Amino acid sequence: MILHPIPYGKQTITAEDIKAVTDALTSQFITQGPKIDEFENDFAKYIGVKYAVAVSNGTAALHLAALALNVKPGSKVITTSITFAASANCVLYAGGEIFFVDIDPETFTIDIKKVRQLLDSHPKGTFSGIIPVDLAGYPVNTEEFRKLADEYNLWILEDACHAPGGYFIDSKGKKIKCGDGQYCDAAIFSFHPVKHIATGEGGMITTNSKEIYDRLIMLRTHGITKNPDLLIENHGSWYYEMQELGYNYRLTDIQAALGISQLKRADAGLIRRREIAEKYDRIFANNPNIITPKIIDGKNTSHAYHLYIVRVNNRIGLYDFLRNLQIYVQVHYIPVHIMPYYKNLGWKNGDLPIAENYYEHCMSLPIFPALTDEEQDFVIEKILEFYQ
Ligand SMILES: *Cc1c(COP(=O)(O)O)cnc(C)c1O
Repeated sequence: MILHPIPYGKQTITAEDIKAVTDALTSQFITQGPKIDEFENDFAKYIGVKYAVAVSNGTAALHLAALALNVKPGSKVITTSITFAASANCVLYAGGEIFFVDIDPETFTIDIKKVRQLLDSHPKGTFSGIIPVDLAGYPVNTEEFRKLADEYNLWILEDACHAPGGYFIDSKGKKIKCGDGQYCDAAIFSFHPVKHIATGEGGMITTNSKEIYDRLIMLRTHGITKNPDLLIENHGSWYYEMQELGYNYRLTDIQAALGISQLKRADAGLIRRREIAEKYDRIFANNPNIITPKIIDGKNTSHAYHLYIVRVNNRIGLYDFLRNLQIYVQVHYIPVHIMPYYKNLGWKNGDLPIAENYYEHCMSLPIFPALTDEEQDFVIEKILEFYQ
């Protein structure tokens, strides 16, 4: 019997992390300073991408990426309904319109066949981009999306919040890491405490495009630049220009210091996440009440397991039973298209039957690097007990 709460996800903070933060706190810069550059460089290296831009959270990352990809009033963008609302909201922030497409019944990520159907049912040039989401850490096959996007002249923004460290092997045998920009124009990450790397609040945009990178840097700080190459006038060395309407979406050096320290343990965290997933996979393999997550091409797909999502019978019963034991399982996600806000925009129940059916049964079991064997065993024992 375990008497303390077990969440579905949680950060790990070590003594080293604390030292990194207190060092940053007593340094000269506490908002955007040298730690930001260091975090961006380390993160870009980890992901295998040219540029990384640190911002205040994952939602800000989505917003700026949408702007840098020129989303504006009239832009039509495609995404999945099984995601956190921010993946869709960013398009609306920029004045665009969002089109939800149903999910693949096996991977629960956006169904490429349905995306093609949507594209084919409109005149060419109707849509501007796609935002695929690496749900739970499952790497979307962005090679296939790139082919489709090229046919229809679309950009791709990968929402890789769940998947730092995840990858797939493409048709040429090349390793494609989530967010590495090989097939996507840009990608975004979040450093919310339940994600792989925690900075309290925090986010990152990655891209291989210098043009997108330059835009992001400007948009992150009010649309202001001091870069002499970009200035329209120059009144002296104090001079800066606000060239477009930007924001203050900066990350602090204090948070970046934590991110740098956390990133050092990213691979160890992934190994532990996979270990936990394997145990759940093994124990629930033939259980008639629980369907474990499937990986279609296991040899060529490396799941990052931000979440471990099962589909269960009597979900509400199991949820309440576990909650009473302080096992805080979660539901990811309530489809975004049936949120009241999106219903007001015209979406309704029945629009995306596979997503809606998925929602009826999905449940996220505890998975995070600090979850102990005893805690996991307790979770498993109680789930099996519920179905006895
Ligand atoms: C967490 C998350 C976000 C938003 O990140 P925040 O840092 O919380 O703003 C966006 N998309 C997905 C898929 C997420 O899981």
